[in-house]
Amino acid sequence: MANRDNPSTTSTRRITVLGSTGSVGVSTLDLVDFATSRRDADLSIVALTANSNVARLAAQAKKFRAQFVAVADPDKFGELKSALAGEDIEIGAGPAAIEEAAARDADWVMAAIVGAAGLKPTLRAAERGAAIALANKECLVCAGTIVKRVVDEAGGVLLPVDSEHNAIFQVFDTALPHRVSRLILTASGGPFRTWSSEEMSVATPAQAVAHPNWSMGAKISVDSATMMNKGLELIEADHLFPIPHERIEILVHPQSVIHSMVEYVDGSVLAQLGTPDMRTPIASTLAWPDRIESPSEKLDFASLSALSFEAPDPVRFPALRLVREVIDKSGAYPAILNAANEEAVAAFLDNRIPFGAIAEIVETALIQADKQNVPTALNQLEDALIADSLGRQLAQEAILSRTAA
Ligand code: NAD
Ligand code: MG
Repeated sequence: MANRDNPSTTSTRRITVLGSTGSVGVSTLDLVDFATSRRDADLSIVALTANSNVARLAAQAKKFRAQFVAVADPDKFGELKSALAGEDIEIGAGPAAIEEAAARDADWVMAAIVGAAGLKPTLRAAERGAAIALANKECLVCAGTIVKRVVDEAGGVLLPVDSEHNAIFQVFDTALPHRVSRLILTASGGPFRTWSSEEMSVATPAQAVAHPNWSMGAKISVDSATMMNKGLELIEADHLFPIPHERIEILVHPQSVIHSMVEYVDGSVLAQLGTPDMRTPIASTLAWPDRIESPSEKLDFASLSALSFEAPDPVRFPALRLVREVIDKSGAYPAILNAANEEAVAAFLDNRIPFGAIAEIVETALIQADKQNVPTALNQLEDALIADSLGRQLAQEAILSRTAA
């Protein structure tokens, strides 16, 4: 990447963005564009992928001269083909094409597909030893030990993009965990931080996706409103950092300026701060272990009115309690929780269940799972996929029995 001593020197990096049409994907390409226009780095795009937004994917492919583009929806092949007619860009459609995109020889892969759908493509990229910039937290939640093992065996590296984990990654030398007493994951508290349970129970999708600080995709926005996002992040942190989850605390910090903190045994607390703009953590993973300029607005401390903090409320936000329970149970439970949550959030966004039912559906799925023979360890991808299907099926049953009642 850019050489600090001679900023005009560039080095090359071949990039693939999985989920390029989403919020993180667009921010990633914006940063690539910025770095390229400043000649800070010589970045080329190997592959871009999307679920179904062919128009945006094709425009990105042309602009960045991608070698290969893939759309997950197989019915969109014809549309993608005509959108890129006459261009020297290979195309593919269907889930296998997304995996093929991940398997191509990029050396830095942004994993920004939402949900467990990102697991297989992320593993394909990890198997090659690529640097994985990981936004797709669900992948670690449902198969963290497997993802880490594949990265390690291939000699790759996992670079956390999620702003909290990126913050901790920047200030924690994980080779020396005995120096650390506590990790503090900050949480904005989401749009319903001050709402009562009664008010929240009837909140609409439009209210739930209106995040006060961050502009993000619909699923993670709803997760922020239920605080399941922070729960998923707790599981993510448990996989990424060698600190037991009992010493990973969640702290509500409504301004989203401090992105997370590491407390050392001597009482020193190191934090990473910045404006709430994903281009900062993405830039840190793109340049890692170096630094590059990012177009993010810089913090103006004098204009910050205050930084405030409060304890999270596991009664109004039951997701926080459910997540601690599944970490203790381990095995297939986190994957079941994640899958049930994905189904419940989709049902809420589809107006099939009220906001207040999301955590109830997840809890019901976990209770039902207890009655089955849930594996206590996930050793391979197949185990995670089975747990994922079970979580979806149990959540669907809970949604149906709720809507039938
Ligand atoms: P988004 O919904 O805006 O984008 C998701 C991307 O994944 C899109 O490109 C979409 O086409 C693709 N996709 C969706 N379903 C797919 C499928 N079945 N197969 C293949 N591709 C599929 O989501 P986002 O906000 O960009 O979030 C992406 C991931 O990053 C999530 O895991 C989220 O939790 C995480 N993340 C996002 C932010 C943020 O600021 N948006 C911050 C931290 C972490
Ligand atoms: Mg986050």
